[in-house]
Amino acid sequence: MLTTDSTFHQAKILVVDDDQNVRMLTRQCLEAENMVVVEAANGFEAIDVFVKERPDLVFLDVEMPGMTGLEACMRIRDMPQGESIPIMIVTGSDDRASIDQGFEAGATQYKTKPVNWSLLGRDVQYMLRASNAFNSLKRQEDRLRYLAYYDPLTSLPNRRSFNEQLSRLLKRSQRHKTSAALLFIDLDHFKRINDSIGHSRGDSLLVEIAKRLTMELREEDAINYFSDSSAQEITGTDGATEIARLGGDEFTVVLSDVAYVTDIEKVARRILDSLSEPISLQSHNPVVTPSIGIALYPQDGRDPDTLIRNADTAMYVAKAEGRACYRFYNEEMNARAVEQLKMEEELRDAMRDDQLELRYQPQVDSTTGEVVSMEALVRWKHPKRGMVSPQEFIPVAESTGQIVELGEWVMGEVSRHCHYWETLGLGGFRVCVNISPLQFNQNNLHERIAGFLADSGLAPGRLELELTESAIMNDAEINIEKLRALKGLGLDLAVDDFGTGYSSLSYLKRFPIDTLKIDHSFISDLETPDGAAIIDAILALAKTLNLRVIAEGIETESQLCYLLGRGCDLLQGFYFARPMYPEDVPNMLQTNFLEQIQSVAGH
Ligand code: C2E
Ligand code: MG
Ligand code: MG
Repeated sequence: MLTTDSTFHQAKILVVDDDQNVRMLTRQCLEAENMVVVEAANGFEAIDVFVKERPDLVFLDVEMPGMTGLEACMRIRDMPQGESIPIMIVTGSDDRASIDQGFEAGATQYKTKPVNWSLLGRDVQYMLRASNAFNSLKRQEDRLRYLAYYDPLTSLPNRRSFNEQLSRLLKRSQRHKTSAALLFIDLDHFKRINDSIGHSRGDSLLVEIAKRLTMELREEDAINYFSDSSAQEITGTDGATEIARLGGDEFTVVLSDVAYVTDIEKVARRILDSLSEPISLQSHNPVVTPSIGIALYPQDGRDPDTLIRNADTAMYVAKAEGRACYRFYNEEMNARAVEQLKMEEELRDAMRDDQLELRYQPQVDSTTGEVVSMEALVRWKHPKRGMVSPQEFIPVAESTGQIVELGEWVMGEVSRHCHYWETLGLGGFRVCVNISPLQFNQNNLHERIAGFLADSGLAPGRLELELTESAIMNDAEINIEKLRALKGLGLDLAVDDFGTGYSSLSYLKRFPIDTLKIDHSFISDLETPDGAAIIDAILALAKTLNLRVIAEGIETESQLCYLLGRGCDLLQGFYFARPMYPEDVPNMLQTNFLEQIQSVAGH
C-alpha cells in the first residue's frame, strides 16, 4: 500500500479535459486516493484555475478546442509557480513526434489513451512523490547555495561572492575599456561598540549598516551618481554596483564602468554620511563611522588580489589619519608599507645592538613646584638616520608585536636606573612607565610587573603605569579585573592621552585609576575655544572622580597660566624640561619651579 504525503496535506489535482465524462471518471479515481480535484474544460480555463487554485499536479488533455493542451502546458511552465509543477499530458496519438512535442512543451509525464483507470491514482501518487522529493532537494540545494554565497546575518553577498563579483566586474571593465573602483569599508571601533552595547544589538547594528549601504547604492541611485551625462556617453553603459560583507565589520563595494574619480568620491562621501548617522537600537543610539580605502582599476591593480591589497592599505591609512574618512590608494602608501617592513627589521637589530636609550621627563607639582615624578621615554639612536621618534617606531613595534620585547627592555633599563639613583640616595619620586595596548593585553603582565618591582627594588607606591585610554576601554569589563589585580601590587595607574579615545564614564568610575593625563593635543589647542572647553571638562571630571590630573606638552607661559588657574595638579612639558639622560635626573630633582609658577599665576 502506498502511504502518501496526502496524510499531511491533501494533494490538489487540476484535471483539464473538454470531455465531461473523462473529467468525471478521473475525479472518481483521484478522489478514491484521497486527493482533491479541481476541473477545467479548456486551455484558457486551465490557466485561470491554475492561478486561482495553485494545484499540486496538472492532468492535461492535449486535444481540446481553442487552446490545445500543449499550448496550455507551455503557458503554465512560463509562470513562476508553474516552473516545477508535475504535469501529466494525456493524448490519443502515441507516435514519436507527438510524444517529443509533449515533452518539449514541458510535460513531466506522458500518457496515451485509453487511460488505464485502475492505475491512474497510483501513477499520480508516484508523480507527486517524485516531485516532492525533487522540490525538497532543490530547496536544500538553494539553501546551501545561499549559505555558500550569502551572509546569513545581513543577506549581503559574502566573501566568496565578492571574489567572484570582483573578477567578473574587472573582466567587464577590461572588455569595455573602462575604470572600476573597489571600496574597502571598515567600521571604526566596532569591537568596542559591540562590547558595550551587547552582541545581539551589535548584530542589529550590522544589519542596519548593510541596509543603509544597499539603500545608498541602489541601482537607480547608482546611475544618479554618475549624473555627469558625458560620463554616460563615454562609457555607453550603466555602472554596475556590487556590495558584499567580507565578515565582521568589513564591507566592500565594487563600482564598474566609472568614468571619473569625482564620481567615486561622491559615492564614498555618500556612504560616509549615510553610515555615520546615529543608529537607533532600543535605548542606544550609537554613531558608527566607517573608514574607507579605495583602489582603482586599472591604475592601482589589474587583478583582484592587487586591487584588494591596495584598497586594504588605503583603508588602514584612512584609519591612521583619523578614521571616519576615505582615502584613495597611492604609490606612496605602498612605499610606506615597505618602509614599515624595513623598520621592523631594523628595530630587531636595534634591540640586539643597544641602539635604544631611555630619557626621563620631569613632572612638576603645581602647588609646591617640586619635581615629583619622572616619565621614562624610549629613544632610538639609528646608526644612519640619527634619532628616530618613538611616534614612528612604537606603532610599528605595536603592530608587529615587537613592543612586548621592547617593553621588557624598557623595564630592565628603568630597573637599572633605579638602582643607580638609589646609590645616590635619591628616592622620593615616582617613576612613570608607558605600557602599550599590546603589552597590557599580555596574560603575564601582572607577573612581569611584580618581577620588575622585585628587580628594581622600587617601592610599589613609587611606580606609576601609563596606560592608554583605548587599551583599557576595549573589553572594559575584563579590564576592571586586570586593573584591580595590578593595583593589588600597590602601584599607581594613569590614563595616558586622555580625551583622545572613547571613554565610557560609567567604566571610568569603576576603574581603579589614580591619574588622568590630558593629551598634549588639547594643551596646544588651548588658544582655541574647543581646546579650553575640553580641558575644563576633563578637570571637572577628575574632581568628581577624585583623580589626580596631569597636563602634558606644556610649552608656553600662557598654557601654564591657564592650567594653574584651573587647578591642574601636575605639569609636564618642554616649558619645564625636555626628556633628559638618567644622569641628569638627580640635578633635576633638586630643582624647584615654585617661583616660576607663582610669577606666571600672578599674571
Ligand atoms: P606619551 O606617553 O604621551 O609621552 C609624551 C610625549 O610628549 C613624549 O614624546 C614627550 O617627549 C613629548 N613631550 C613632552 N613635553 C612636550 C612638549 O612640551 N611639547 C611637545 N611637542 N612634546 C612634548 P616621545 O618621547 O616622542 O614619545 C611619544 C610617545 O611614544 C609617547 O607618548 C608614548 O606613547 C610612546 N612611548 C615613548 N616611550 C615609550 C615606552 O617606553 N614604551 C611605550 N610603550 N611607549 C612609549
Ligand atoms: Mg606617557
Ligand atoms: Mg600622552
